[in-house]
Amino acid sequence: MADFILALDQGTTSSRALLFDRQFGIRGLEQLEFQQFFPKPGWVEHDPQEIWDTQLRAARGALARAGVTGRDVAAIGITNQRETTVVWDRRTALPIHPAIVWQSRQTTPICDALRAAGLEEEVRARTGLRIDAYFSGTKVRFILDAVPGAQARAEAGELCFGTIDTWLIYRLTGGRVFATEPSNASRTLLFNIHTGDWDDTLLQALRIPRAMLPDVRDSVGLFGETDPEWLGHAIPITGVAGDQQSALFGQGCLAPGQAKNTYGTGCFLLMNTGHEAPRSQAGLVTTVAWRRAGRLEYALEGSIFVAGSAVQWLRDGMGFVAHARETEALATSVPDSGGVYVVPAFVGLGAPYWDEQARGTIVGITRGTTRAHVTRATLEAIGFQTRDVMQAMARDSGISPAVLRVDGGACENDFLMQFQADILGIPVERPLVLEATAMGAAALAGFGVGLVRDRAEIDRRLGAPRYFEPHMRADERESRYATWLRAVERARGWMEAGS
Ligand code: ADP
Repeated sequence: MADFILALDQGTTSSRALLFDRQFGIRGLEQLEFQQFFPKPGWVEHDPQEIWDTQLRAARGALARAGVTGRDVAAIGITNQRETTVVWDRRTALPIHPAIVWQSRQTTPICDALRAAGLEEEVRARTGLRIDAYFSGTKVRFILDAVPGAQARAEAGELCFGTIDTWLIYRLTGGRVFATEPSNASRTLLFNIHTGDWDDTLLQALRIPRAMLPDVRDSVGLFGETDPEWLGHAIPITGVAGDQQSALFGQGCLAPGQAKNTYGTGCFLLMNTGHEAPRSQAGLVTTVAWRRAGRLEYALEGSIFVAGSAVQWLRDGMGFVAHARETEALATSVPDSGGVYVVPAFVGLGAPYWDEQARGTIVGITRGTTRAHVTRATLEAIGFQTRDVMQAMARDSGISPAVLRVDGGACENDFLMQFQADILGIPVERPLVLEATAMGAAALAGFGVGLVRDRAEIDRRLGAPRYFEPHMRADERESRYATWLRAVERARGWMEAGS
């Protein structure tokens, strides 16, 4: 049997492919960036053809780097930027409109209309989500309105809607397989996370015909085989999940109460809740983690809009450092933040506050404040925001994770990780291999093809993680966190005040 697993990691700014060997070592990696389109303020679009082209070239490049061919690949796993929406012609596989990216705010008016129709509670109960332009459903509506004749063609079954997983599966299989799985489907605003099927009430509310929706399969299992034209061989696609759920799987958070935080541009915190789908009262969303053997497993998710991008602001906006990694030395050049708190609400606040009117704030400045203090306070803010979400998770689920697993670019910062452990009061576990998202897709595909039978096989290969143990005294931890909450109050509702 062929030995390698190819993980396709289709992200917001680049398409990546990683070739894993049987021991889950990375043998080949190729990454290709693609263009971002900003047609109007707040709008973000991609060219679906370019996504496909770069993804295919990345896959070929990863194989070439490892000196192997498609014949050596036992299975393909796919993980992808979530919510981004593509509508294409079923017959020609040509997109009828640019892909509308998850970040894009262009469907805010459609969201307002859904809210005005009193659908907020209905949406939350059925999908676990909030009505927000972030999710796919309103993006589909937008495309069907924007392209003349599209509604009628969708009703006649001539058009396909897919998130990026579905688009890639369709292209990889030469149009033979039109399918998705629940971790992606649960981000569309159209999927009932309790029944595991598309929801007729929501489809009607958005006038989206069922005929344009993909088949929902298990996240682990055979989706189809690639057309031999692409990689020289028919390779089975056997594992698929959205990027954050894939990272949850890649981090080994398979049991209820296990949580991971990805520190990238923003932070995405997910906690596995097992077969229960707790309804959030505390400002989180409920999402499907994956479906295995026909059974849905769930997660609570909290997204923090600004994390690593606050570090970019220190670098590019403030000019305090030349490289992100220099923030660590600068932050530790002072014994503490000197009473300074930075609330990086540059685009409002996400979970658990959901305050669009909030704006960034620095409080506690004195004559002695330096860039080192502000830098330290900015890194600390990432840790404080993570605690905000962790507390919301504990309130919603009644579970407090014993340890937080971490990945993403900013988790390389040891100061940040130590502060995170200190302010949470639990250990932070950083794996040796930081490619959790691609690992997750490879692991799902490995299970799907029978190459992996036991999760422990993967964990053994991951090597010993590094633990950051909490050292801060409990009274200091709580008083610092209480001060953070006061700083957040200063940032909230700022735009409302008319400034
Ligand atoms: P994304 O996938 O969202 O692009 P990455 O996981 O690649 O993000 O992480 C990049 C982010 O992490 C950037 O916002 C960068 O500012 C931040 N970052 C990278 N290295 C460090 C570091 N050593 N300390 C703090 N932040 C960092």
